[in-house]
Amino acid sequence: MPQVHLDTIPILDAYRENGECPLCTLEDALEKQFLDVALGGAMMEPDTRVMTNEKGFCARHFSLMYGAQNRLSLALMTHTHLKDVMASLQKEEAALKKAMEAEKKRNPVARAASSATKSSPFYKQLEALSAHAEGRSDTCFICERMESTMARYLETLCHLYKKDESFRATFAASKGVCLRHYPRLLRAAARCLSGATQMEFVQTLLDLQRSNLQRVEKDLEWFTLKFDYRNQDKPWGESKDAVERTLNKLQGRVIPSDSGTK
Ligand SMILES: [Zn+2]
Ligand SMILES: [Zn+2]
Repeated sequence: MPQVHLDTIPILDAYRENGECPLCTLEDALEKQFLDVALGGAMMEPDTRVMTNEKGFCARHFSLMYGAQNRLSLALMTHTHLKDVMASLQKEEAALKKAMEAEKKRNPVARAASSATKSSPFYKQLEALSAHAEGRSDTCFICERMESTMARYLETLCHLYKKDESFRATFAASKGVCLRHYPRLLRAAARCLSGATQMEFVQTLLDLQRSNLQRVEKDLEWFTLKFDYRNQDKPWGESKDAVERTLNKLQGRVIPSDSGTK
């Protein structure tokens, strides 16, 4: 089956759930999948191991793996990643030490001049080490896998919108997306759609975002008004989980969907 057909199934499933953001639903599923890859048997695949050694993990994904209770798997993987990080830092640090030695040997006048302009090999190497250390903390095996799969999903979503009338109806009846995914969907429309379909998609998305943000805003307002004793006995309506849904609408996946919200 071509990839676009394989990707169709999770997209339709996510839209069927009809949550505040189907793209967050997709991301949730991908995150679980790649956490399993990282901690599970796939770790034995040399290619994956090379990737996790190089990329490491962001704080969120280290924390989720720590919570998964597969401590030995986490320890083994982190051990080789740590050794990789240590080796690469050592290389940059050695270069800095060399530059420091050269700096100490220079005469004080030249040293003062290059200190003022930050142009000496010492300052350059100091910055190189800083950038390198930052770079090593900025990558994440799971984030990057999720990112590239989501880019593919967005393309497939546009393709579905173009080709499948029933998906167009599903899309128009959805609750829009979170504000983190909103620009990504707009950009996907710019990239993957054209002509009248593109205009229709963008118009539908604008309407969806407006009406659904209004809905969430009203729900949140009623949540606050329920604290007024005069409203104590009035029904909650849709407002019981308004705080959770608003946070998720603003930032996406703040409160996990299995804690009672969608
Ligand atoms: Zn989202
Ligand atoms: Zn990550």
